[in-house]
Amino acid sequence: MSSESSLTCEALLNSAIEQIGGESPRLDAELLLCHATGLGRTSFRAWPEREVALDQAQAFRELVAERVKGLPIAYLLGQQEFWSLPLKVSPSTLIPRPDTECLVETALELPLPENARVLDLGTGTGAIALALASEKPRWQVVASDRVEEAVELARENSRSLQLPITVVQSHWFDQIPESGFDLLISNPPYIPVSDHHLNEGDVRFEPPSALVAGDDGLDDIRLLVAEGLQHLNPDGWMLLEHGYDQGEAVRNLFAAAGWRNIETRKDYGGNDRMTLARKPASDQ
Ligand code: GLN
Repeated sequence: MSSESSLTCEALLNSAIEQIGGESPRLDAELLLCHATGLGRTSFRAWPEREVALDQAQAFRELVAERVKGLPIAYLLGQQEFWSLPLKVSPSTLIPRPDTECLVETALELPLPENARVLDLGTGTGAIALALASEKPRWQVVASDRVEEAVELARENSRSLQLPITVVQSHWFDQIPESGFDLLISNPPYIPVSDHHLNEGDVRFEPPSALVAGDDGLDDIRLLVAEGLQHLNPDGWMLLEHGYDQGEAVRNLFAAAGWRNIETRKDYGGNDRMTLARKPASDQ
């Protein structure tokens, strides 16, 4: 192959697809070529012979090499869509997952006041908080994260999407003195430290602090369930994401701490994925 022909979109894509392999090599390669060239995906299809500038071809090859090492596409693009919101992502936070949109859907169905006060704990990119703010402009949404880079990222996403939320740096409730929330929502770390999934796929490149929670994966959930009650209004809700096999354990934690209306719900794949519970009314 001559050096000239190797710089067409088609040649670059074909060589990348071969190297990337895995589940979705064409999609990955196309997304990376869009990122390197600023072109849209349809333009490669309509005009595969289109020449790519040398510096852009070089940038593309570097991205492909990172992908071959396993780096998540979202980190290479610096962006991931969640609830149709284009969120900036970085290796300091978890990449938002589609299944976490089920948490947002469930929160939106709860019987909450029109101007509900909501706290998203361990917000990362700000995904859950920003999705809720986009749907409920009258809610007062606070988001917290222990990691400074995550706090900055969530603030940046809030600014660029023009969705006003308050982001505070806090390890769970440590810097949250207020009570009076109507909803506490979180996608906390919940993977057991010895889980083999941690050695596979995207999670290898995500921060362990966002994924791993002790021997049984429940360390952070235990804390949230125990401390949540004192930050909620009577009748307020807590909604937690957890592992597919943790539903019963999480329901038991809520029950032991005196919560009511405890219910586990499934994700889009039909797996147990979240449990919600309500703080008892004050006269109970
Ligand atoms: N659902 C994610 C995964 O299995 C984990 C997210 C989390 O720990 N909060 O990759």
